[in-house]
Amino acid sequence: MQKQSLPSNYNPSPDLLKGKTILVTGAGDGIGRSAALAYAAHGATVVLLGRTVEKLEAVYDEIESAQGAQPAIFPLDLASATESDCNSLRDAIEKELGTLDGLLHNASVLGERRPIESATYASWQEVMQVNVNAQFLLTRAMLPLLNEAPTASIVFTSSGVGRTGRAFWGAYAVSKFATEGFMQVLADELENISNTRVNSLNPGATNTAMRRSAYPAEKPTSNPSPDAIMPAYLYLMGEDSAGITGQSFDAQ
Ligand code: NAP
Repeated sequence: MQKQSLPSNYNPSPDLLKGKTILVTGAGDGIGRSAALAYAAHGATVVLLGRTVEKLEAVYDEIESAQGAQPAIFPLDLASATESDCNSLRDAIEKELGTLDGLLHNASVLGERRPIESATYASWQEVMQVNVNAQFLLTRAMLPLLNEAPTASIVFTSSGVGRTGRAFWGAYAVSKFATEGFMQVLADELENISNTRVNSLNPGATNTAMRRSAYPAEKPTSNPSPDAIMPAYLYLMGEDSAGITGQSFDAQ
């Protein structure tokens, strides 16, 4: 797989996402929280999706106090999300906001870090449900709206272990390979029939709750903060990446 890098010294315009509506999953914490704040700071109306309402409300408040466009909150636990939940969200976005220009699939769970031989099926299913199946349901629901936008961007979140398999990363790694595959299939499908581009982004080691839980012995500050990797998230969501599709990017 050929990996892509950002243009060097990428410097997004302050108005990069002005007038755009962007849905961010897992927007209450970690990288998703930073992406929601960065998108709002660059002019977007952000739809905040996540499972912990208090965290989404805190992000909402941060956007409001920074004078960003009024965001929307959509509480949804992707472990139990149904077709009907995803279709309701699409209908609500269409009714309240009129358009959808971007979708950042960011929410994921780590699951168990253990050999396949002793992995539990319950954890395997939860990881596949949140990291893969819910992405499918949300993507399918949102595609009609995204395809109506003048140009739209879907960004899938990958991982190093979704590009090269590694022992003991189990369902999480398999789910990230599935994510890369999903990105490629969808990008190929849409390339000649819509203005929606589809790419994947590996954030790389980033100081979040997930990273701290995967590497408890590591000094958290040895990795960049989520805010530090936002240029890649802005580049792929804004018009500077127009025409680029089906590519796997690294944020670091
Ligand atoms: P994080 O700090 O654990 O944040 C994950 C976010 O996803 C949280 O907002 C969480 O909500 C939400 N989420 C988890 N399960 C959910 C569910 N069932 N329904 C709805 N929302 C759910 O993780 P992160 O490090 O920011 O990771 C973001 C993305 O980057 C993930 O796709 C991850 O695989 C990828 N990634 C991260 C790293 C890294 O070093 N951090 C490296 C490679 C890839 P709650 O806060 O409410 O639990």
